[in-house]
Amino acid sequence: MDKKSLCPVAKKCGGCKWINMEYEKQLEEKEKWVKSLLKPFCKLERIIGMENPTHYRNKVHAVFGLDRFHKPVSGIYEEGTHRIVPVDSCLIENQKADEIIVSIRNLLKSFKIKVYDEDTGYGLLRHVLIRTGHATGQIMVVLVLSSPILPGKNNFVKALLKLHPEITTIVVNVNNKRTSMVLGDKEQVIYGKGYIEDVLCGKTFRISPKSFYQVNPVQTEKLYNKALEFAGLTGKETVVDAYCGTGTIGIIASDKAGQVIGVELNGDAVRDARDNAKRNNVKNIQFYQNDAGKFLVGMAEQDAKVDVVLMDPPRSGSDEAFLGSVVKMAPKKVVYISCNPETLARDLKYLTKHGYKIERAVACDMFPFTNHVECVIMMQYCGKEKKK
Ligand code: SAH
Repeated sequence: MDKKSLCPVAKKCGGCKWINMEYEKQLEEKEKWVKSLLKPFCKLERIIGMENPTHYRNKVHAVFGLDRFHKPVSGIYEEGTHRIVPVDSCLIENQKADEIIVSIRNLLKSFKIKVYDEDTGYGLLRHVLIRTGHATGQIMVVLVLSSPILPGKNNFVKALLKLHPEITTIVVNVNNKRTSMVLGDKEQVIYGKGYIEDVLCGKTFRISPKSFYQVNPVQTEKLYNKALEFAGLTGKETVVDAYCGTGTIGIIASDKAGQVIGVELNGDAVRDARDNAKRNNVKNIQFYQNDAGKFLVGMAEQDAKVDVVLMDPPRSGSDEAFLGSVVKMAPKKVVYISCNPETLARDLKYLTKHGYKIERAVACDMFPFTNHVECVIMMQYCGKEKKK
């Protein structure tokens, strides 16, 4: 093992591929990578890095199990296996969350809580998931159990809160399946509200155990601000927020738009998005649960007038149904947020062939120490005038 490594388990974990690279160098490499992919289309502005690139992850997961000596351990799965590598602290995770996980492990013995053994299916505690609200300081602890009953529940909650009064809610999640999915379907709130809140660009968002929420809140704010700057809204535009997740981007954009239409495939995310709109008293936004491609084909068929498309697809990128409909509706601007520069380059090839010109492009480092990078691109329609 590399003695100088910033993390003793980096190789086994596999999360931080660039753990031993200076941060400045990481930024340079990410910029170079994106530049090489986007070279045919545009120039790249200086990558948006983090001032403080450690402990940025607001969501922390630990798997619980037994070591060779049958002692409870918590940590991560070794990459590609189901062996647990013990971890007490991690360079990129929220530190409070790591401390809480260690405290939970230390409490197990006195509460006679057995950890789950994947081989035999015996034991109770399988995982702990912690989510933290960066701006609010709220903390949610999710105990993933193999059965719904936590013996000595009230005293366990009391003991944990005594050690960590900063915890604002505790949820028991039941996962009795032999699966590598962390969370099961059933949930019971055993302390607090069952969710936490966070604030992004002045709007409040509700985060439940299963909600999708960007993991690096500091960089997410910079990313969204950049996307909005690129969109240059004046208050009148009809905006589509495609692949909208829990509605964050659309809700943040809503103050500066005439109306926003959000589309997202995941039903739970759409429910959260509607709740988030209500919570922020946003009235000019509508969310639809649908495949973004199908939805846009429908809009294009109805000859809908759209001024700006904001899109933030998953790693696989967008598809021709979606992109073809964008071209057909010909919104003045498309702002593309991407977590995979390779599929981004593929999609840009299509859009630039069909009338769009890239005006601005920047990478944003949402995942320091890993080999992932986020990008925001702004395109303008320069093709033939669309007949009205
Ligand atoms: N814009 C959000 C979420 C981005 S993640 C944010 O910044 O928080 C990408 C989202 O695309 C996920 O919520 C995923 O559920 C959704 N998604 C994946 N495939 C989709 C499809 N075919 N149609 C619509 N949404 C899709």
